[in-house]
Amino acid sequence: MREFKRILVTSALPYANGPLHIGHLAGAYLSADVYVRFQRLMGKDIVFVCGSDEHGAAITIKAMKEGLSPQQIVDKYHALFEKTFSRIGISFDMYHRTSEPLHHETSQEFFRKLYKKGEFQEKESEQYFDEEAGQFLADRYIMGTCPKCGNGEAYGDQCEKCGSSLSPTDLINPVSTLSGKKPVLKTTKHWYLPLDQYETWLRKWIETGELDGKVLHDPDVWKNHVLGQCKSWLDGGLQPRAMTRDLDWGVDVPRDIKGHEGKKLYVWMDAPIGYISSTKQWAINNKKNWKKYWQDDETALIHFIGKDNIVFHCLIFPAILRAHGDYILPVNVPANQFMNLEGKKISTSRNWAVWVHEYLDDLPGREDELRYAMIKNMPELKDSEFTWKGYQDANNNELVNNLANFVNRVMVLANKYYDGKVPAFDEDMDFIGPDDQYEAAFHDSELLRLFDDSHELCDFLRKFDFRSAQKVLMDISTRGNQILQFNEPWKTIKENPEAVKAVLNLCLQYVAAMAILSRPFLPFTSDKIRTLLNLPHLEEKGELNKMLDQLSEGKPLLKKGHKIGEPIHLFTRIDDETIQKQIDKLAGSSPVEEPSEKPVAPELKPEVTYDDFQKLDIRTATIIAAEKIEKADKLLKLTLDLGFEQRTVVSGIAEHYSPESVVGRKVSLLANLAPRKMRGVESQGMILMAENGDGKLSFVSAEDGWADGQVIK
Ligand SMILES: [Zn+2]
Repeated sequence: MREFKRILVTSALPYANGPLHIGHLAGAYLSADVYVRFQRLMGKDIVFVCGSDEHGAAITIKAMKEGLSPQQIVDKYHALFEKTFSRIGISFDMYHRTSEPLHHETSQEFFRKLYKKGEFQEKESEQYFDEEAGQFLADRYIMGTCPKCGNGEAYGDQCEKCGSSLSPTDLINPVSTLSGKKPVLKTTKHWYLPLDQYETWLRKWIETGELDGKVLHDPDVWKNHVLGQCKSWLDGGLQPRAMTRDLDWGVDVPRDIKGHEGKKLYVWMDAPIGYISSTKQWAINNKKNWKKYWQDDETALIHFIGKDNIVFHCLIFPAILRAHGDYILPVNVPANQFMNLEGKKISTSRNWAVWVHEYLDDLPGREDELRYAMIKNMPELKDSEFTWKGYQDANNNELVNNLANFVNRVMVLANKYYDGKVPAFDEDMDFIGPDDQYEAAFHDSELLRLFDDSHELCDFLRKFDFRSAQKVLMDISTRGNQILQFNEPWKTIKENPEAVKAVLNLCLQYVAAMAILSRPFLPFTSDKIRTLLNLPHLEEKGELNKMLDQLSEGKPLLKKGHKIGEPIHLFTRIDDETIQKQIDKLAGSSPVEEPSEKPVAPELKPEVTYDDFQKLDIRTATIIAAEKIEKADKLLKLTLDLGFEQRTVVSGIAEHYSPESVVGRKVSLLANLAPRKMRGVESQGMILMAENGDGKLSFVSAEDGWADGQVIK
């Protein structure tokens, strides 16, 4: 990424109909926070905005379920979000909400501008309508079977199982979520964004970064899975997308637009504009100019999101921004994949989740422990997994045994030998190096090595590779531990006090560096280390940049004679009992059932000729009567209508179907099978059934409404 004058970072607006879980945190918030804190520490002009997404059908549905008003629902979750983000250390510069008047005005201004420019297509279409509720059924007001994966609980806007974006008319067997009734189709008018007309420039911009003869971003630094998803959408052909809805909760279509009555902005039109209104509010509070962050080519706009929002941030929102004309487009959208929990997909509805606010209540003071475990497993390039055992191991083996242990030992020794003062030492004094216990090392060369490692950590952060960056942090701590381990000051203090001074001075420089380097990942720990060292808390205004300058010139971070504080343990062990409690808590939930393994199909029978097949006469038919056959558990006596005649057929389906349930069924009948007597009843043919590996049966038939007696071939 080229150097920009300023950076604007957004995190996906959380939807205000339920609390935050660790999957949310891993997707759009922790990654952004690490990045923003890093850039602040480098002295960058950076603004970090977010807010609650408070509109759309899912809010009103949640309100109905809880017997509250939509406003009460969004107030409740907005307050919870704000508090939870602050408790876990997500350092937004502005956390706004889309129910604020400022946001309504901002998104209406957008809509009006696009309308006046003639960007929208007005189209009448037939949409599902719930006659009982007297309402059109957009998005989450309608459910049905996903045409792509067969999930029976797909919503009108998206199938959460396979991630497909849907429209209500795509659903098979749609049902209103308001009344549970089958909806009817009714005509309504909406404003559509003609995404199909933007396809050419969108493709060029995504694939090459170029637009209007300028290079706006470098696709080589975009994540492959993000580019891949965009390309697959583009290859599939973009369709015009309605930017309005028939709803009663949301941002009104501006009143000066003809036909506005009863229409609200589509939530995916209004939500991303929430980034703009949040920036406006930040600018008002801080007496800044918001336009610099949205309308100047020298700003890098970066959207942090989860992979389910890629299409909205990489295609639809850029299309809206460009249709408006005054806005910049994102230079990168470093979307994360999903984090699973204990081997299963996180599910809000089934309570298979670690809720962030509950974690903070259950394990008070362990904010950084969660941040650490999440960053270690961040789903940056592929889905990842959070396990409580993994969390415990990361804490006990890495944070306690490595980082806390190093800092504690240095603090204890410096207090014991030098009365808590950074010791002066002889620059030419050598000691045992950390790489090889038989090699000599010197203070100045080790400081340069610390510079190199810090530099490497920064490079990973710039590339959104937060896992690797955090790993470098721990490697630096490991190196500090090795310096102590090989030199054993507690043994050599008497015989070689001059070498111990050099070693402990160096280790104190390591601790000072860790206070700054740990800041993006472990902000609470960073504060604690700064307190230990008797240094002011970091304001995140260029301190890392300054540190790198000092180290590159071989200057120590702590001056000799600087008085440090008393040692404390930064992290403590987490015992099995605590972990078991959390696992037990999950056990009370029901995880999403993973699809069972594919059934093994029986082997194919020997080949037959077409002539063999031609001999079979298979017809459509309808069961018009059915009864049990005495003393035959498996058999039903069926009367079939073939249109031109009626037949009696004995069929072995009694263990699967009751006589009442099959009357009226369409079936396929092998009509020229030689008659055969079964339990005294002559069967004049055989109906065709599909059988699965468990021995379950299913009728095979033509579509409903098909005439009887027709040939199946
Ligand atoms: Zn699906």
